[in-house]
Amino acid sequence: MTMRCPFLSLSAVNAPYMKEMEQAVLRVVQSGRYVGGPEVVSFEKLLSESVGAPYAVGVSNGLDALRLVLRAWVAMGRLRRGDEVIVAANTYVASVLAIVDAGLVPVLAEPDPKTLNLDTSRLEEYVGRRTRAVMPVHLYGRAVWDAALKDFVSRHGLLVLEDNAQAIGAEASEEGIYGGFSTGALGHAGAFSFYPTKNIGALGDAGAVVTHDPELASAVRTLANYGSDRRYHNIYKGYNCRLDPVQAAVLSVKLPHMQTENASHRNIARIYDSLISNPSVVKPEFIDGNRHVWHQYVVMTPRRDSLRDWLTANGVGTDIHYAVPPHLQPALKDVEHGPLPVTERIASQVLSLPVTRTTSDDDARFIASIINDFGS
Ligand SMILES: *Cc1c(COP(=O)(O)O)cnc(C)c1O
Repeated sequence: MTMRCPFLSLSAVNAPYMKEMEQAVLRVVQSGRYVGGPEVVSFEKLLSESVGAPYAVGVSNGLDALRLVLRAWVAMGRLRRGDEVIVAANTYVASVLAIVDAGLVPVLAEPDPKTLNLDTSRLEEYVGRRTRAVMPVHLYGRAVWDAALKDFVSRHGLLVLEDNAQAIGAEASEEGIYGGFSTGALGHAGAFSFYPTKNIGALGDAGAVVTHDPELASAVRTLANYGSDRRYHNIYKGYNCRLDPVQAAVLSVKLPHMQTENASHRNIARIYDSLISNPSVVKPEFIDGNRHVWHQYVVMTPRRDSLRDWLTANGVGTDIHYAVPPHLQPALKDVEHGPLPVTERIASQVLSLPVTRTTSDDDARFIASIINDFGS
């Protein structure tokens, strides 16, 4: 069935950039430089300027960005195997995979049901003898960084790795550790994903690490390149996780339009916020105004599956982020955790509505009216 309002059409999202992207790809094809090189260097510079942190390292994808930072901290002796990392339990599975991959222990913390981000008023509950780091995940494009979290981090001397896969261009209301308000540059390191569906998406997998710490930047770059700090000299048992120059060239076309992309998500979110009025559907709060980049617009209802069916029947595509939280995934059954009732309730109630530029204002009004007719 063709949807009147598809959840997401990547060709439509990329349509305004087609010509420039074709030229960018062609430039790489003709350059003879297919790994590393000037396209990667210039994208890293663009990204570091846009986020407001001095170092950016292009890598293969968002999961690798997270893994490489944690593994670099282990290699540098800043973390040890078995150290605990606090992370929101309702995150995408990749955040937790990265922690486990580095030999660290994820401590799954309940989110705040209002923001669907880490509940910063409950952090002390999760502190153990080996708590050494926290991974704030700016889920759905909303920054999780406030005075309570900043205080917590400094009181316990924790490393902060932001999972900024969903929130490029978002801002916190509290200053980061190094000053500045941009997500991805608030803590000691930020991991970015340019997976095609993210607010700034490549034409395949791509990611980056952004940091204020030159030693970390250099360790990540080295680890991502076989652990080689100079040619045929290996200081770490590394990987091959470099950013592809074709993707770098494409991203250099799209990144300068980040504000426009985010503004179009925000515009649709505002229409939903003003028009959806069904009492059985809980809307996300507009508490952070223009700082939220609305990677997803997520409503909650105990009748999620019927609402989804109702929208599908009316030609509206939706998605669920995420129906099964990491602690209930077979691969992670050995991860210890306390009761997670908020996380499990969220997983059973969340529904993501279309929110990209593919969605017109009229579509958003139509979708709101369909939702308002639900169950009446
Ligand atoms: C997409 C995503 C990742 C992983 O990024 P990839 O580039 O797909 O590997 C990690 N964390 C979150 C929260 C994400 O949404």
